[in-house]
Amino acid sequence: MYIDSHCHLDRLDLSRHEDSLANLVQAAGEAGVEQMLCVAIDLNQFDAMYNQVAPFNNIFTSAGIHPCHVGECPYDEARLRAAASKPGIVALGETGLDYHYSEELAGAQKASFAGHLKLGSELGLPVIVHTREARQDTLDIIDQHADRDTAGVLHCFTESLEMAQAALEMNFMISFSGIITFKNAEELRDVVRAVPLEQMLIETDSPYLAPVPYRGKPNEPTYVPQVAKCIAELKGVSVEEVARITRENFYRLFSRATPVERSV
Ligand SMILES: [Zn+2]
Repeated sequence: MYIDSHCHLDRLDLSRHEDSLANLVQAAGEAGVEQMLCVAIDLNQFDAMYNQVAPFNNIFTSAGIHPCHVGECPYDEARLRAAASKPGIVALGETGLDYHYSEELAGAQKASFAGHLKLGSELGLPVIVHTREARQDTLDIIDQHADRDTAGVLHCFTESLEMAQAALEMNFMISFSGIITFKNAEELRDVVRAVPLEQMLIETDSPYLAPVPYRGKPNEPTYVPQVAKCIAELKGVSVEEVARITRENFYRLFSRATPVERSV
C-alpha cells in the first residue's frame, strides 16, 4: 500500500472520474494508494479545499502559504494558526522559497517561511517545504528556525545531493516525485541512490508532473506507485519494500496522521 505524501486534490481535473473526487479516491485505492496528503497553497483557498476533502478519512490535509502565493496571501499568523487547528491537519505548508518564479517576493517569502517554521515548532507540526533556486537561503532559514524534532520535508526534490545531505542532517526528509522517472533526470536519480530509504517519501505533486509512462497527462495520486517503482530499481530493492518503508516514514514524520484501514 502506498501513500501519496503531496498532492493538490482541489486542483485536479476530475473529468476522467465523472467530476467526482470519490471516484478518484476509489481509483487510487484500487491502484494500492491508501492515503494521501492534500497540501494547501494558500489560506484564501484553504476552506474550499478543506471542505472538499473532509469527507474522506484517508485524506490528510496541511495548512499553509506557497512561496509563489505570498503576494496575494501574505503571511498571517492568526489565520494560519486558525487553519492549522482544524481536525485532520497534520502539517504546515507548503511554504519555502521560490526564486525561479517569484524572486521579487524574496523578502516576503523568507518571512513567511520563517513564520511557518516557528509556528510548526510551537504546535508540534512538521513543515512541508518547496524550494527552487534558493538553496542556501532555504537551508539557512531551516537551520535558524526549524525544530529538529518536528522537522519537515523538502518536497518534489530537484536540487543537489549537497542540499539533500544538509537537509537530512537537520532531520528533514526528502520527497521524490515523478520527475525522477523523466529521461533527462539522471543527476536527480543519483540523489535518489544516495538518500537513505529511511529518510525519503514519495509523492505525485498532482495535478503537475505525471511520471513516465503517463508524462504529459494530468497527474493524480493513482500514479504514485510509478515513483516507488523507479526508486526500487535505483535502490535494488522490491517495490513492496519501498512502499512499506516510505509508509513508515510518512507516519513517523506526520505523527498526527493515524493509519486508516480502507474498506475497498
Ligand atoms: Zn505542491
